[in-house]
Amino acid sequence: MTDSSNDFSYLAANWVSVRERVDDACRSAGRDPGEVSILPVSKTFGPEMVRAAMALGLHRFGENKVQEIRSKSEALAGEDIAWVVIGHLQTNKAKDVARLASEVQSLDRLELADALQRRLEIESRTIDVLIEVKTSPEESKHGLAPDGLPAFLDALRGYDRLRVRGLMTLAVQSEDPAAVRACFHQLRLLRDAEQGRGHDLPRLSMGMSGDFPLAIAEGATEIRVGTAIFGVRHVSKHTVPN
Ligand SMILES: *Cc1c(COP(=O)(O)O)cnc(C)c1O
Repeated sequence: MTDSSNDFSYLAANWVSVRERVDDACRSAGRDPGEVSILPVSKTFGPEMVRAAMALGLHRFGENKVQEIRSKSEALAGEDIAWVVIGHLQTNKAKDVARLASEVQSLDRLELADALQRRLEIESRTIDVLIEVKTSPEESKHGLAPDGLPAFLDALRGYDRLRVRGLMTLAVQSEDPAAVRACFHQLRLLRDAEQGRGHDLPRLSMGMSGDFPLAIAEGATEIRVGTAIFGVRHVSKHTVPN
C-alpha cells in the first residue's frame, strides 16, 4: 500500500523484536523459549491493523472490550481469528462473549461463570477460561482475591462449558521491579498450591509490554503484549465503556 496511514511495515519488525526479547528472557531464566507464547493485544486498533498482524501469521488477539470484539469480528467476518477477552467483563456481555470469544482470561466471580455457562449452552459452545487473580493492592485492578481461589476453583468444576486452564494477573504499576515481580511470584505460588489440590492449571498469563521479562522469570506461559507490537494507543474519550 502506498498510503502511509496504511503502512504497517513496522509491525513485522516489532513482532520479531518482541519475540527475540521473549527468547532472551527465557534463556536468562533457564527456560525453553517454546514454553512462552505471546498474545498480541489489539485493543483500540482497527480491523486493518488486525489484518496486517494476520499477514505475519498471528490469529489470536486479546481485547478488553466486548464491543470492540463485536465490531472487529464483523469487519473481519470469515477470517479465522480467535478473540480472547482480557478485560473486566460485565455479566450482561455474556451473550456476545459466548457467541464470539474463544477464551476469557478475566473470569473472577461465579455470577459471571453462571451467565457464561447459560449462554454457552444456548450456543452449544465451550470456551477456555483463566481465572483473574488480584495480586496487587490498587483499587483500579480487578480480579478474585487470592484467598477466594480454592473455593472458586472447586465451584467451577460444576460448569461444563468452561474449561479452566490456568490463572491470569496484572502486576502492580510500580517503578520497583521487586514489587512487580512479587505479584507474578504470588500467582505462580497460588497455581502450584491449587495443582497440589488436584486442579489442572498449566497456563499462567502474566506480563505485558513493560514487565514481561520479570513474568517470564516467574514462570509465565503466556504474555499479553499491546504497545510493544502495535505502538502507543490513542484512546478516544468517546470510547464506550465495557
Ligand atoms: C492492554 C492490556 C495489556 C497489554 O498492555 P501493553 O502494556 O500495551 O502491552 C495486557 N493485559 C491487559 C489485561 C490489558 O488490558
